Amino acid sequence: MKIIPLSEGSFTVDATKRFVPFDQGRDRMEERPRGSLLVEIQPFALVTSRDILLLDSGLGFPGAGGELQIHKNLQDQGIRPGDVTRVLVSHLHQDHAGGLGMKDPRSGMKIPSFPNALYYINRQELDYGISRDGKSYHAEDFRFLTGGDRLVLLEGSGEIGKGIHYELTGGHCPYHQVFLVEDGGTRAFFGGDVAPQASQMKNRFMANYDYEPKKSMELRQEFVQRGRDGDWTFLYYHDIRTPAAKLPPL
Ligand SMILES: [Zn+2]
Repeated sequence: MKIIPLSEGSFTVDATKRFVPFDQGRDRMEERPRGSLLVEIQPFALVTSRDILLLDSGLGFPGAGGELQIHKNLQDQGIRPGDVTRVLVSHLHQDHAGGLGMKDPRSGMKIPSFPNALYYINRQELDYGISRDGKSYHAEDFRFLTGGDRLVLLEGSGEIGKGIHYELTGGHCPYHQVFLVEDGGTRAFFGGDVAPQASQMKNRFMANYDYEPKKSMELRQEFVQRGRDGDWTFLYYHDIRTPAAKLPPL
């Protein structure tokens, strides 16, 4: 399996939940609104023997040429949007779901950014995201999928095709899910925002941005255990410095 991180860069986000690009070399944190958090955004493509998978979809911001940044980042790796076979979605917060769709230049309607892919979303997360349209969720990012034939609604935990496992976790948001992809001797674990950064897997801590902070912490500890036992490669969505890594030995 080939693991391809698709970094969209760094952003600050404040109480308004708007993501504003942040250049680590040039911009200064002191100049951003008080209480701003620095967030790195990084979807992944996984090329397996059967599929080209996309793990979450980034912010959906345009790149320098006006096209979706996720399209540009994939094309730089020789992957066309139409090549993606499945889009696996951990949850629908705007920084994960923004690139799922794009405006059709002709009709102005929102259409899937990956026209040949099936989109895998937890059923309750979809309903929850639509009902919570506002700050963290932008329903326009994903509502368009409900009218089409590209959407596969997942419930609980199970397997999608051979070697692609999904697991409902909650924690970060009520219906957050994670994915484990097994292919060619590699086990890649995408923990979404339950396991967003390498540093978070080392220490016990609770994050107040989580819906259930204690549960998220316990999930991380569970995944550390299972990841060590199963020799998982962790994929970190909010960690550009350490995109993909196995856990250090004890
Ligand atoms: Zn996130």
